[in-house]
Amino acid sequence: MKRIGVLTSGGDSPGMNPAIRAVVKKAIYHGLEVYGIYRGYEGLMEGDIKKLELKDVGSIIHRGGTILYSARSERFKTEEGQQKGVEVLKEHGIEGLVVIGGDGSYRGANQLHKKGIPTIGLPGTIDNDINGTEYTLGFSTAVNTVMEAVDKIRDTATSHERIFVIEVMGRDAGDIAAWSGLATGAESIFIPENSSEKPEMINRLTAGFQRGKKHSIVIVAEGVGSGEEFAKYIAENSNYEPRVTVLGYVQRGGSPVAYDRILGTTLGSRAVELLMEGISGKALGMEKSEISIHDFDYVFSPESKVTDPIVKLAKLSTELSI
Ligand code: ATP
Repeated sequence: MKRIGVLTSGGDSPGMNPAIRAVVKKAIYHGLEVYGIYRGYEGLMEGDIKKLELKDVGSIIHRGGTILYSARSERFKTEEGQQKGVEVLKEHGIEGLVVIGGDGSYRGANQLHKKGIPTIGLPGTIDNDINGTEYTLGFSTAVNTVMEAVDKIRDTATSHERIFVIEVMGRDAGDIAAWSGLATGAESIFIPENSSEKPEMINRLTAGFQRGKKHSIVIVAEGVGSGEEFAKYIAENSNYEPRVTVLGYVQRGGSPVAYDRILGTTLGSRAVELLMEGISGKALGMEKSEISIHDFDYVFSPESKVTDPIVKLAKLSTELSI
């Protein structure tokens, strides 16, 4: 193998740049050429491809987002689009590919693998919703971003003795909500994996204020509903007038925290090694502090979904918010 490619696809996440950097450096270390494919699968089909040198990945380890840009592409979901992708890779002499992205990006990567392009996937999404890895690139940074925002909101919540409902990202996963809720001492956390009762939340909020609490924080994962819906429920079922904050895209940005830099660096390096060993069709992750290597099909299987740790965190939060 002489030449590999790397692309980022789907929602960007802090940690993608450290992963790109590691792929490029590791490949060059082993005497390979690396080509950056810009704007995900869309850029692949259009041939938006450029050779990357060491200087191209200088000073990016601390930067959020992705220097290769990202995109979503409907055309690449079609057979014709995927064939075009294969053709372009062959035209450029690219013999192996590292795809950094979420579940959808992995599906595209799996198609390329099935069409004979050696392909390795790295989990790049803040949502932490990819099976076969305990953490995804960007999740830790997103949790820290939410934590810092909630700490600030808490200051004003205390000053005005208010309830704040904070809606966080995560799509169908409650990981960001559970982690940030526990890290900020939220009174209630609502996640899709666990059926928390709204009436119980009202009892908890009321008991807290009766005990002299000066504020309350309710964290809602977007997968269970909107912050507005929860605030409305509280207003209709108590004497409180909660305020709502939807944190939104701020959660996707920022300099990656140490864990995301290290995760990107270790997985990016391993991806190059695997391609050099002739391995394809695998998704990398981290399980029990070891790099995990699973078939894409394993990652897509609903049976490999693990929700216990998140449910446990949310339950612990409920126990502690007495
Ligand atoms: P995030 O979790 O941040 O949304 P993602 O990778 O899951 O990231 P998607 O928009 O679902 O984001 O997928 C990214 C791209 O991967 C799509 O725009 C499409 O080009 C490609 N893709 C998704 N599903 C498939 C599929 N079934 N077959 C081929 N390509 C796909």
